[in-house]
Amino acid sequence: MKKVFFTPGPSQLFPTVETHLKQAIKDQILSISHRSKTYMEMHTGAVDVVRKILAVPPVYRIFFMGSATEAMERIIQNTVEKKSTHFVNGSFSERFFLVAKELGKSPQSVEVPWGEGFPADEKIDPDTELLCFTQNETSTGVALPMELIYAYHKKYPRMLIAMDIVSSVPYPVIDVQQLDIIFFSVQKGFGLPAGMGVLIVSPRAMEKAHYLRAKGVSIGSYHSFPEMAKYGDKSQTPETPNVEDIYLLQKVGADMLQIGMDQIRRRVASNADALYSFFTSQKIFPIFVQSRQFRSPTVIVVQTPQGSEKIISVLKAQQLVVGDGYGPYKGKQLRIANFPAHQTRDVKKLIRLLRSL
Ligand SMILES: *Cc1c(COP(=O)(O)O)cnc(C)c1O
Repeated sequence: MKKVFFTPGPSQLFPTVETHLKQAIKDQILSISHRSKTYMEMHTGAVDVVRKILAVPPVYRIFFMGSATEAMERIIQNTVEKKSTHFVNGSFSERFFLVAKELGKSPQSVEVPWGEGFPADEKIDPDTELLCFTQNETSTGVALPMELIYAYHKKYPRMLIAMDIVSSVPYPVIDVQQLDIIFFSVQKGFGLPAGMGVLIVSPRAMEKAHYLRAKGVSIGSYHSFPEMAKYGDKSQTPETPNVEDIYLLQKVGADMLQIGMDQIRRRVASNADALYSFFTSQKIFPIFVQSRQFRSPTVIVVQTPQGSEKIISVLKAQQLVVGDGYGPYKGKQLRIANFPAHQTRDVKKLIRLLRSL
């Protein structure tokens, strides 16, 4: 019997990946030139499905790169001269903050303890150029409501806003116009093999990159926004890209659109409800995130007062792979991914097994 990966990245592959990958090999797609017409059509197709799935306005750019971590670095380089402000409540939001520091900027961090969200009235340094939100903190299972992020946009309209949706995409419905930069990698919510990041950039953020470059600030080389845009205009990337992921993104994205995003979102929501109602109904696995409004539908984190190691191995023996706690919570929590690739019957099986422990 095959395993089901409930790990929050890499995770369960979307069910159609296997068929598409076999077809790609059969059609020798993985050997074609990344300057060929076949590639360019595939690139356009992948950009189009991202645009449709996330309702990205035509004036926003969509770039492909190595990973979400790379996206963090490119975002800071291209939009921040001195100061970004980071909402830090876990490991990935902290990573984004540290990237800014390591690039020699002077970032501010607004910090709350792991497992918590943010109030709508945090004090932001007025010289902040970019506000950075990790919409779904994979290390803790905290999701920030979109309204909270829009409230900051409303209050600080001159600041650019970046949002990491690696472990929630494509679940949240986003009003892209209220944001400047949205990014994710494909091995979590999209259920694809790891190795590619997707970066969505507003005209305002593009302008900032040009402004910084003209001013003599380094915005990087082959993956600067203007360089990626130059190649993007030709439906290409500056370097040899991850053709396999671009191919699969186009195919799996089309499958998701065929199923219907409403239906996919409804299934994720009902699986999340089933998991949270089970965890609420018992006392062995207390839910880590106390405040209901911040509980992530796509990464569910529970405490394991008796330790997580044994539970993880019992589940694994039943072919269900769940994530361990992250960083300081390793051995103390379970992290369960609930992405579009996860089938309701497998979620039910997971709940049944947890109930029997
Ligand atoms: C996994 C993850 C990342 C890093 O993604 P990579 O593709 O490994 O670079 C960044 N942010 C969040 C919220 C994540 O879950």
